[in-house]
Amino acid sequence: MDRISRGGYAGVDVSFRVKFWGVRGSIACPSPDHVIYGGNTSCIEVSVGGNTLILDAGTGIRMLGQSLIQRGIAKATLLLTHTHWDHINGFPFFAPAFRPDFALHIMAGHLAGSQGGIRAVLANQMENPTFPVPLSAMRGALSFADFRAGESFEPFPEVTVRTAPLRHPNNATGYRIEHAGKAVCYVTDTEHVPGEPDRNVLGLIDQADLVIYDSTYTDAEFPAKVGWGHSTWQEGIRLCRAAGVARLAIFHHDPDHVDTVMAGIEAEARALWDGAMAARDGMDLVMVE
Ligand SMILES: [Zn+2]
Ligand SMILES: [Zn+2]
Repeated sequence: MDRISRGGYAGVDVSFRVKFWGVRGSIACPSPDHVIYGGNTSCIEVSVGGNTLILDAGTGIRMLGQSLIQRGIAKATLLLTHTHWDHINGFPFFAPAFRPDFALHIMAGHLAGSQGGIRAVLANQMENPTFPVPLSAMRGALSFADFRAGESFEPFPEVTVRTAPLRHPNNATGYRIEHAGKAVCYVTDTEHVPGEPDRNVLGLIDQADLVIYDSTYTDAEFPAKVGWGHSTWQEGIRLCRAAGVARLAIFHHDPDHVDTVMAGIEAEARALWDGAMAARDGMDLVMVE
């Protein structure tokens, strides 16, 4: 992880990189108090082995879509942690999906055998009278797959994705993406039990190079939020240290954590463990040159 940059896509071809397009949880919060860390909800682009993985479809996916079109990228695989609004409500605004020359494969691990699967859930959010444009208006080559959290698969040659079930209302899936001897994990939305490290999470993130973790709350805020399905940046550090992880990206920021609050959290986290950083919209991490 040699470079961290902000702003537009650098355009340099590298074999494994992670770019954050949305880092908020719960609801998008475009405001003058959310400029430094960003106001878009969850969306991350992972460029790996010449292919594109997208993690979640929060509001950040709108700008990612524009960037993919500009870069001439014609196919991607979207991995969804779950289908709460903050992880899918950018999907109807993902412009590449409306283009006949774009292929999008969509996968989710929390719906197998229920709710009609991921296609039905994405279609429902675009139904009359809550959205004017139906899923069928997306002219791209869309395909859908439901799996069970805990399964592994190879979305592309030399790329392995492992998954694990997370503790979250209506369930969620954690992901581990492996390529060229490096591992990036995406673990949101998930709630911990104080003093009892989540074994599913520990197993998933073991020895990873980067873990992106649900840090919606602080340990001080957590007791009032038990049962809401989220965790803390302090628990992220505890898990990463226990699992021999190199770097933690504090993620899924609470909308109430405005820039000044986030700067304080980031400084406190770094003081506790220098492997910690707070994710920001536009942050770009190179895993393998
Ligand atoms: Zn969320
Ligand atoms: Zn959620």
